[in-house]
Amino acid sequence: MCQNHVIQCECKRSRANFMNLRDLLPPQILSHLYCPQCSDRVTFNPETMVKDNGWILEFDMEAARVFLMSEGVPGKAITPDFIFDQGYFTWNGFTPTEIEDRMKEREEIMKLAKVDRRKFMEELKSWGINRMERFKSEGWRKTANL
Ligand SMILES: [Zn+2]
Repeated sequence: MCQNHVIQCECKRSRANFMNLRDLLPPQILSHLYCPQCSDRVTFNPETMVKDNGWILEFDMEAARVFLMSEGVPGKAITPDFIFDQGYFTWNGFTPTEIEDRMKEREEIMKLAKVDRRKFMEELKSWGINRMERFKSEGWRKTANL
């Protein structure tokens, strides 16, 4: 099971949850994290950065190459997009805050269980479907191929 890494963005206004496949890349691989409120501070550089819905992640690509090549990943395949999309260092969940949001939303629905069980069952079912639809329509990168 992958560990959750909570990392704060450069302006300190946001935090994001990350997971790293097989714990291969340490959290320090993420040299900078910019939330939608601070991502305009930097010029996007596809050689070191990957973006998702207003967020920008900047990786220490030199270190990433060392780690990934030692696992047999061909050097030229190793890009920021590859790291993110293959799960080597990526959101824990579909969005940076999904795991916290999910807990809050679930709590709200659980309250219904005590008052209206039929409504609760309906809500619980549609919640799962609706949240995926929401992520897709918001344009989160990890939902692009679903
Ligand atoms: Zn920020």
